[in-house]
Amino acid sequence: MRLFIVSVSLVAALSITSGFLGIAFYNRESIREEMLNRAKHNFASVVLMRRWNANHGGVYVLKRPGVESNPYLENADITAADGKIYTMKNPALMTREISELLREDDGFFFHITSLRPLNPSNRPDERESAALKTFEQGVRETSWEEEIGGIRHYRYMAPLMVETGCLECHAKQGYRAGDVRGGISVSFKMSNVEEKLQRNGLIILGLATLTIALVIISFAWFFRKLVRSLGEARAELNRMATTDALTGLSNRHALLQRLDQEYERQRRSGKLLSVAMLDVDLFKSVNDVYGHAAGDAVLREIARHIQAGVRRYDVAARFGGEEFLIVLPDADLPTAQQTAERIRGIIEKQVRVGSGETQRAITVSLGVATLRAGERIEALINRADTALYRAKAEGRNRIVAEDA
Ligand code: GH3
Ligand code: MG
Ligand code: MG
Repeated sequence: MRLFIVSVSLVAALSITSGFLGIAFYNRESIREEMLNRAKHNFASVVLMRRWNANHGGVYVLKRPGVESNPYLENADITAADGKIYTMKNPALMTREISELLREDDGFFFHITSLRPLNPSNRPDERESAALKTFEQGVRETSWEEEIGGIRHYRYMAPLMVETGCLECHAKQGYRAGDVRGGISVSFKMSNVEEKLQRNGLIILGLATLTIALVIISFAWFFRKLVRSLGEARAELNRMATTDALTGLSNRHALLQRLDQEYERQRRSGKLLSVAMLDVDLFKSVNDVYGHAAGDAVLREIARHIQAGVRRYDVAARFGGEEFLIVLPDADLPTAQQTAERIRGIIEKQVRVGSGETQRAITVSLGVATLRAGERIEALINRADTALYRAKAEGRNRIVAEDA
């Protein structure tokens, strides 16, 4: 039974655990997907800004103090009619300057890079250069996680395609629209994502533990209850199988079992064993005159007097219709006779049927016998029965000892 509880608990724990592992996995995957979408969105914004710039063929900005000219452009600066100097911000420079602005901000940054950069500061790092090589083979995006400065980052990279707006300046480099010009990598810190994952993981672990505990506790509770009520049902069945329903005494089957035990005991220890067979006198007429229900009441009352009249270790049973058998362990014949006589006397004095003028006293006859050496139990009962028959023949309301 313990093994059963343990195995069922184990199966429950395993299935609940796998369910929650599935949830944890799904949770992790959706957060990954979220990061990828965020990275793609950022990438698309950068491409859009660049397209706007390229479509204007580069944008001039007022060359205020601190504004530098692009050293990779010929004739980057122009002077307006009013003498003010403007300098050209082409898409590459604009992208780099914005990315530097972002770097000062927390976490998010992007990097424009190419396998053949004009500006050496746009050189790809190791992972970017590996990604750029795959782009030349037709791969359209890639993402990975990487430690940067001791902090975990999510990185996404996709190729930067040559668009018609780019050709205005880059045609002379041999590019055509649709060529892979380089790539932009988008990176952001994963610290808060990791925190979130960790917190979700803890919540899921807690919930799983709680669920497992609840399932096991309720199962154990239910099972205990089931076992208890089965035990009660078995005890009740046992009681019903060994008890006579009308009188509450042992039934014939239980008595014969008990007699076998006493018989064995008697044979081992050489102790005495007596029985008394009791039959209600003229009981048929009780039924006939007063009705069956009155007869039943008489039987119940007689049973009560028999039970009260025997010792604690004696066994009284309803043997047949209105016959009772009393087993008297350790009793010799005179002792058994005394007991039988006491019971007979009490019944004669106490048990009545009917009322008023029709009231009648109930009497019983008893046959008593003591086990002889080597005698079988059936023979002992037969001798008690014979004694009872004699008691009836001799006028009823008396006891007869077979051996006497
Ligand atoms: P005797 O003194 O010779 O024993 O006469 P008797 O009338 O008792 O003899 P008999 O054994 O013929 O009758 C027994 C009757 O007991 C017959 C039966 O209707 C009745 N009886 C047997 N079992 C029950 C029972 O459970 N309830 C009732 N009310 N009557 C029962
Ligand atoms: Mg009878
Ligand atoms: Mg009778």
